[in-house]
Amino acid sequence: MRLSRYFLPTLKEAPSDAQIVSHQLMLRAGMIRQEAAGIYAWLPLGLRVLRKIEQIVREEQVRAGAVELLMPTLQLADLWRESGRYDAYGPEMLRITDRHERELLYGPTNEEMVTDIFRAYVKSYKSLPLNLFHIQWKFRDERRPRFGVMRGREFLMKDAYSFDLDEALARKSYNRMFVAYLNTFARMGLKAVPMRADTGPIGGDLSHEFIVLAETGESAVFCDRKLVEMPAPGADLDWDDLQALVDARTAMYAATEEMHDAATFESQTPEADRLSARGIEVGHIFYFGEKYSAPMKARVAGPDGQDVNVHMGSYGVGVSRLMGAIIEASHDAGGIIWPDAVAPFDVVVINLRVSDEAVSAACDNAVAQLKALGKDVLYDDTDERPGGKFATADLIGVPWQLTIGPKGLADGVVELKRRATGEKVSVPLAEAIERLTA
Ligand code: ATP
Ligand code: MG
Repeated sequence: MRLSRYFLPTLKEAPSDAQIVSHQLMLRAGMIRQEAAGIYAWLPLGLRVLRKIEQIVREEQVRAGAVELLMPTLQLADLWRESGRYDAYGPEMLRITDRHERELLYGPTNEEMVTDIFRAYVKSYKSLPLNLFHIQWKFRDERRPRFGVMRGREFLMKDAYSFDLDEALARKSYNRMFVAYLNTFARMGLKAVPMRADTGPIGGDLSHEFIVLAETGESAVFCDRKLVEMPAPGADLDWDDLQALVDARTAMYAATEEMHDAATFESQTPEADRLSARGIEVGHIFYFGEKYSAPMKARVAGPDGQDVNVHMGSYGVGVSRLMGAIIEASHDAGGIIWPDAVAPFDVVVINLRVSDEAVSAACDNAVAQLKALGKDVLYDDTDERPGGKFATADLIGVPWQLTIGPKGLADGVVELKRRATGEKVSVPLAEAIERLTA
């Protein structure tokens, strides 16, 4: 991608209403534009990162056995009347009337719709377990949309819904999502800690929020330091028997403000390991049994031929919120530092003198070689000053910067910089390419 032909409207300064660093940097890096309170247009650079995050989420869902579909954003109010949530949901729900006076709503979540799809087709326990997920825009008319994409009104969510014959089997589905989440966030370079969450009237212990620790997090959290340091389980697992793995991660104390109990925290956790911090909720998993299947009559025939209500769980990831969380966790004074896995480009090639034919030819050659190796390349072929080019490259946080100018070229070298560490080397092009594809 040639920067001169791209659309990267960077800003020198962030608007004053952007309070936290991720929001400021996303605006300055030309990733998003606010169209209304909590509603954003995704500009090309932002969209690239959103798609990368989405794809990691998708791959880990599929690995855990979930099946992707796509449900619409608009839903019929009558479906929500069946579960009783149409009236219960309150002012966060955006209610819409069509030309036939039919009541619709912009979905804040999809339990009712997925239950409706399930009951229309699945009649026997033999079709279970089933986990259906989609990655779709949601709308919640938040009282205080703020912090950019972190608390938007329109936001992208991955939501999965599991269906099982009984609670014991539902727990296995829950565990698969629990582990998928650990792997998902780790692939994005994040440490997300599972914390006990409120199960409300349903009770039980099967609800966890996945929390990224960050000073700007909206909720206070308390946990055992050792839990934060536990590595992700990885993919090579017995997906039917994850209980020990989940137990190892739920045995240690970890709770958000609402669930926190100071006495238990202190008795369970040695003083040196007690961590009080702030956190961002990037995911939430929840077993809720027959809450929807009972009123909506989602029943299957069990092994004895008797119909039973299915046991369900739902599993959300804040796909667009994750972008803010990743930036909160990974930036410096110069701008964003993307983890390789979610970076909008792999490398930016910086041409220090576009008027010099030899330099431009060397850049073209470098870009062609990198592309042939499967790299996503942003080529800064603009006639901006070198200082401005370096500042832009740092701001947008592409993991590698490959700079080619007349002086280096005369000496047969290019400069390769790693954004995360600032480390620079002057080496021949072939060696630079070797390093950044290693
Ligand atoms: P919160 O407590 O932050 O309001 P929630 O508990 O209402 O979130 P869930 O219903 O659990 O959210 O939704 C699943 C995930 O969607 C959350 O873990 C979060 O990452 C994301 N999410 C929820 N609300 C928003 C929002 N307004 N903007 C961006 N992401 C959101
Ligand atoms: Mg939640």
